Amino acid sequence: MHIDLATVALLGALQALLLAPLLLAATRAYGGVARASLRIWGSVLLLQALGWVLLGLRGRISDWISVVLANGVLMASYAGTALALRLLLGVPPRRSLLAAIGLAGWLGIAWFAVVAPDYAMRVYIATLSLGVYLAMLLWPLRHAARRGGSIAQRVMLLVLLAAAAGWLLRLRELAPGAVPRPGLLVATPGNVAQMIYGALEPVLASIGFLLMYNEAAQAELRRLARTDPLTGTLNRLALDEELARLFRAGPAALAVLMLDVDHFKRINDRHGHAGGDRVLTALVACVGARLRAGDVLGRVGGEEFLVLLPGADLAAALALAEALRGAVAGLHMALDGEPQAITLSLGVAVRQPHEDDPAALVRRADRALYAAKREGRNRVAVPPPEALADGRDGTEPSPPP
Ligand code: GH3
Ligand code: MG
Ligand code: MG
Repeated sequence: MHIDLATVALLGALQALLLAPLLLAATRAYGGVARASLRIWGSVLLLQALGWVLLGLRGRISDWISVVLANGVLMASYAGTALALRLLLGVPPRRSLLAAIGLAGWLGIAWFAVVAPDYAMRVYIATLSLGVYLAMLLWPLRHAARRGGSIAQRVMLLVLLAAAAGWLLRLRELAPGAVPRPGLLVATPGNVAQMIYGALEPVLASIGFLLMYNEAAQAELRRLARTDPLTGTLNRLALDEELARLFRAGPAALAVLMLDVDHFKRINDRHGHAGGDRVLTALVACVGARLRAGDVLGRVGGEEFLVLLPGADLAAALALAEALRGAVAGLHMALDGEPQAITLSLGVAVRQPHEDDPAALVRRADRALYAAKREGRNRVAVPPPEALADGRDGTEPSPPP
């Protein structure tokens, strides 16, 4: 089979050239880091297209343009690839380091193109620069290879490893003693593999990139959907999911605390909604600081919060509830320059043996909270005895007399 490497290079350039405007046009629909990295990715594709065109024209245009310019453009595209992916991976981008590697690599290549022409040295230098870029991507992607790793990151890992393999193959053909040393456009197995892969890479890497972006966006949306925007704790949806997860995990001990700020409306009335919001944020910080790893805090709504305590029995839950009540009562907050006392009422309920309805457990905690309010507020209470009778939690309407 005759493979014309110049044609392959031009095909690669064409693919990159077609893909770049699509991705650049799509950036309008993206936000934040994704938009920045997608723009860089689109520009990288344009650079790759130009680089491949220049390499493909080797022999037809002056060597100076073909080698020095093409390698400068390709080096910039590799730096851009590393930058875009590092931004998307959420690791420090290290722009100066990326630029310095590219510049050093390009100067080295230019030296061995113009001053002391040596093809093998140029490949060594390009491989070395690329190797550093690859290491700067493979390191943050290493988690993807573990069990449960992200699929999109695995795709990208494969794309990068294939690129590395291509370079190593080409390097092997240049090993000392390998005579004659083939030039870039000679169809040796290493050159063919690398050129074909290089021509496919704009599409493969862009697929990996878009999959990674999609995964990151999904995770961010899921995080937002589960977070209370004011206090940053879990919201009701997330609390329901966590409770369901704990119930599914088996019949282990589980306690819940339902917390409600006493006379919160008065705080709002006196200091406005913003004052009330400050109290809620301070409350979450105070309560959150006293929970163990594995405990879950979330906002049910308004000034009402739920704490899930996996593994806690009634005594432990009551002790924690009392500690939380004391800690909040001891908060010395000032609103509009006035000291503002904050107190909490708390209802405590524990999962009954074989109980499999999370809602019933929460309803009992709610009834306990109601009892604490009735008994005078700023206190901890357990559900009234009738809430447990016959498995009923007392919230059902009473049967007609
Ligand atoms: P109690 O001691 O019986 O719990 O009385 P309370 O005033 O705390 O209870 P009530 O349910 O009457 O008032 C809750 C208030 O919480 C009413 C509502 O305007 C306010 N609220 C609900 N969500 C927010 C919020 O996000 N921020 C602020 N500042 N206030 C909120
Ligand atoms: Mg209240
Ligand atoms: Mg309330």
